[in-house]
Amino acid sequence: MARYIGPVCRLCRREGMKLFFKGERCHSEKCAIEKRNIIPGQHGKDRKPKIVGYGLQLREKQKVKRFYGLLEAQFRNLFEKASQKKGITGENLLGMLERRLDNVIYRMGLGTSHPQCRQIVRHGHIQVNGRKVNIPSYQVKPGDAVEVREASRNNPTILAARDATAHAPVPNWLEVDRETLKGRVIGMPKREELVQIQLNERLIVELYSK
Ligand code: SF4
Repeated sequence: MARYIGPVCRLCRREGMKLFFKGERCHSEKCAIEKRNIIPGQHGKDRKPKIVGYGLQLREKQKVKRFYGLLEAQFRNLFEKASQKKGITGENLLGMLERRLDNVIYRMGLGTSHPQCRQIVRHGHIQVNGRKVNIPSYQVKPGDAVEVREASRNNPTILAARDATAHAPVPNWLEVDRETLKGRVIGMPKREELVQIQLNERLIVELYSK
């Protein structure tokens, strides 16, 4: 599946907020949002657009899509699935984004950023219910056991990420044993603890419902 491979700090600058693509760097003074939080491009520093209506909806969609590392077609597909489920479409959408396997690895603290977690999954380091799963978009469900595979337990990237995220909070819908690199999904994500960035999912629903 295709993915964005261009410079990522400019995506944060475009949205005017941290989207945490670079692990520890995002929490340091080297972060581009700390150093120069201006819209990228030649005339970025002169631009202070007042965003309303469609622009607001578009920015909200771009922000969420980029935070979770999806391209437009993938995001649109997920939205269609969310809108066919019972309940509030926006919350369904966020719930499905949270239950992606690459995001679960991120929430478990086995990677320091979404791109890194995606790579950990793609490289076959993760198993779900005892079977290798290398699909980042795989949807976990309550009761699933998610863990680092036996052969990857000494992987330096995963161990370094675990140490770097030692104090990061684990959401209530996950149970994690950092020593054994094992976890379990014990519930469904709740709206109030869904994401670490501010967002208004209703704007995305409005955008796609036009
Ligand atoms: Fe770059 Fe991370 Fe800062 Fe975003 S949050 S600008 S990815 S360092």
